[in-house]
Amino acid sequence: MNPFSVTFLGTGTSHGIPVIGCSCPVCFSSDPHDNRYRSSILLEDGHHTLLIDTTPEFRLQALRSSLTSLDAVLYTHDHADHFNGIDDLRVFSKVKALPVYCSGEVVSSIKDRFGYVLKSYDEAGGIPHLQLHVLEPYQKVSIAGFEVLPIPIRHGCKLILAFRIGNFIYATDSSGIPPESLPYFEDVDTLVLGSLRYRPHPTHFSVDEATAFATSVGAKRVYLTHLCHDISHSKLDSELPSHMHVAYDMLTITIGDNNGQ
Ligand SMILES: [Zn+2]
Ligand SMILES: [Zn+2]
Ligand SMILES: [Zn+2]
Repeated sequence: MNPFSVTFLGTGTSHGIPVIGCSCPVCFSSDPHDNRYRSSILLEDGHHTLLIDTTPEFRLQALRSSLTSLDAVLYTHDHADHFNGIDDLRVFSKVKALPVYCSGEVVSSIKDRFGYVLKSYDEAGGIPHLQLHVLEPYQKVSIAGFEVLPIPIRHGCKLILAFRIGNFIYATDSSGIPPESLPYFEDVDTLVLGSLRYRPHPTHFSVDEATAFATSVGAKRVYLTHLCHDISHSKLDSELPSHMHVAYDMLTITIGDNNGQ
């Protein structure tokens, strides 16, 4: 697989940071790293552009990153903070239907919550034109030049998808990894892992839990994402071991060409 870049379009939890109406030090921080849209990433290999999740700020994220075209969209799960920006796929599906890859559960949510996007005609204002593809766990799929392996992970009592592309893994909103998914984390070079806050949470890894999991799989480079306002970027970044980092909005990292699976 060709080298590709990963841009963090957003790195915040479901409320984003600052949280509406909150006056805590992180929400009032002057450090731009503490300003976080909801979590999403963009993969680009010089020829193709692949988006993971459409957050409520997707329009703002697309404008901020000068995004003008998309080849496909992947969904990790259907929670509002990863999903509700779906209507802004309109502009990326004017000429032809945009391929969307997700679990069967997310397809049901598109039908239930955004059923109008599956109509065959446009009402005033237009609708996104999506070509839905259901992902099967552990079945690798070629999507816009990327070899994508969907890996089920636990998010509270829900199973959602992490994605492995070469030796890169994006695993947001994780609270645990089922034993049958663990082998797919072997030999991961770059791991992006959700980590909500210092205190435990029923549906997300804490900082300690994320650190322990990343260490257990031997990830060479780790980026924590999906952070809440309990976490000051500079403080957590200074506390982590040298191979672990706190992701921030508009950070771009490169995934090298030695990441074959
Ligand atoms: Zn989330
Ligand atoms: Zn706050
Ligand atoms: Zn979630």
